[in-house]
Amino acid sequence: MTVNRAQTHDWAAVIAAGGSGVRMGGPKQFLPLAGRPLLFHSVSLFLAMPEFSDVIVVTARENFAALEKEFGGKVKLAPAGATRLESVRNGFALARRNPVIAVHDGARPLVTAQLAREVCAAALKTGAAVAAVAVKDTIKSSADGLTVSATPERAKLWAAQTPQCYRREALEELLSRFPNAGDVSDESQLAEHAGMPVALVPSFYGNIKITTPEDLVLAEALMDTERKSAGVPAQRVGFGYDLHRMVEGRPLILGGVHIPHNKGLLGHSDGDVALHAVCDAALGAVAAGEIGVYFPPTNLTIMGISSKVIAEKTLEVLAGRGAELAQMDVTVIAEEPKLMPHYQAVRESLSEIFRLPLDCVSFKAKSAEGLGPIGKGEAMECHAVVTARIK
Ligand code: MG
Repeated sequence: MTVNRAQTHDWAAVIAAGGSGVRMGGPKQFLPLAGRPLLFHSVSLFLAMPEFSDVIVVTARENFAALEKEFGGKVKLAPAGATRLESVRNGFALARRNPVIAVHDGARPLVTAQLAREVCAAALKTGAAVAAVAVKDTIKSSADGLTVSATPERAKLWAAQTPQCYRREALEELLSRFPNAGDVSDESQLAEHAGMPVALVPSFYGNIKITTPEDLVLAEALMDTERKSAGVPAQRVGFGYDLHRMVEGRPLILGGVHIPHNKGLLGHSDGDVALHAVCDAALGAVAAGEIGVYFPPTNLTIMGISSKVIAEKTLEVLAGRGAELAQMDVTVIAEEPKLMPHYQAVRESLSEIFRLPLDCVSFKAKSAEGLGPIGKGEAMECHAVVTARIK
């Protein structure tokens, strides 16, 4: 069977993140989950899937800046409406050229690429499809909220999740046919009203919606299990290297400590070769680039700054990825001055800057035996290895 390219690519994901989070005591989309805002998990998943050319996040305007900061121009942003349906309408307005549209709750961070693919494939066949799981509990209905009126037959009950996927023309028809549908809890209800078949795609129970604080604890535990089974190590190792020229007329700062010498390290910042190597190692441990990404040499505001600012930013990036430093081993290669008398002061400073116990900070120095530019005292270099824990 030949597959039309338009049917397997160019899909759009509309991620609804307009909820007020009343049951969480505030907007839940940005609560931290595994070190990242809740909403970012599903956005990242759809962005990484080659089938989706457009990822549209529908959210309150005050959240736009945070999404732009994290994802740049990769996501499209639409303002949340007063109801879920209005939000979906606003998102769909940016997806009019996509043949398939997947509507997903921003509060379902555990969705998988496989599930999204399966629901979209089903929608291509029927027009509309929803992810759902068979209901495990016996469900009671109550007309007055006090006494049971009926017990629907459990074998026929399914709990709807997202993604809910549509062929474009199907969603377009539903949204235009029911312009005043009010607050339906999902748009697949419109398909039922219209007599359009909606395919049920069996999902998994872990695809939970974060609604109450305990859901967040559960999601955290499920993600932890998933990470362990995927073999992502909880301990990471990073390596960093740096070199700076030694020049007269500059103070020598190493690991945040001023060391008396007739030369110092040349650089835009204070040239602290040790802090730079440690920061690069720390960023490397969580695959977050290197300090030049956060402090480009072209950025004149870093002129003359203390490298402690760079260290502070590094800790912030690690925390944003759910990681913390566990230990470091730092080796400076320098001909002069002799650094052994300063080992303890530098260790204490590194321990304070990186908030590590002293016995987790190693600092040492080697000479270059008079060889090369370092041996001639023209430069100083530093190698650092750190380990980081993923929390
Ligand atoms: Mg440097």
